[in-house]
Amino acid sequence: MNIVLFGPPGCGKGTQAKRLQANTGLVQLSTGDMLRAAIASGSEIGNRVKDIMAEGKLVDDETVIAMLSERIDAPDCDKGFILDGFPRTLAQAEALDALLKGKELEINAVVEMTVNDEALIERISGRYSCGNCGAGYHDTFKKPETEGVCDECGGKDFDRRADDNADSVRIRLDAYRNQSAPLLPYYRERGKLIAVNGMAEMDEVEKEIKAVIKTA
Ligand SMILES: [Zn+2]
Repeated sequence: MNIVLFGPPGCGKGTQAKRLQANTGLVQLSTGDMLRAAIASGSEIGNRVKDIMAEGKLVDDETVIAMLSERIDAPDCDKGFILDGFPRTLAQAEALDALLKGKELEINAVVEMTVNDEALIERISGRYSCGNCGAGYHDTFKKPETEGVCDECGGKDFDRRADDNADSVRIRLDAYRNQSAPLLPYYRERGKLIAVNGMAEMDEVEKEIKAVIKTA
């Protein structure tokens, strides 16, 4: 069983991929983790990735596919994998299908975590955390019991990520929509696309995804 988890930045995709890995035996393959692992392995592709990144360039599709090919062949991927963050473009989806076909594998399901943009913007842009212990808070959904004091450690300094503001989130969402627009029909036409409500509680989303995986 090989699945692609699909959803905008901030929808909780990475968290869901980790949960699925923990209780389905499928291996989470995130592009960032794979790039770091490839570099650390010192393999031929790893060295190529290292050179590209050292020059400050984006790793090209061909290299990512070569890396993915190597990764999928590893024994821990026997049961299958969960792709998180790849493919992002139609060209990548086509290259991925060609790669898998050569291994007599396929993507069995593409799970799209759908979100309400305005609600997601509110969720992300209100986030902040304790500067001392890292406990997470939210302007609307999770305020500290005493204003300005961390529940966990009593700290009074809080951090807010510079890009966790409404404008930045809107830009990230727009970029996601533009990129994914041609990608979703590609999988829909092939009968692979299944939508789950990404705005539900984490446990609920997890349950929905597992149900999807069972029937795919
Ligand atoms: Zn704290």
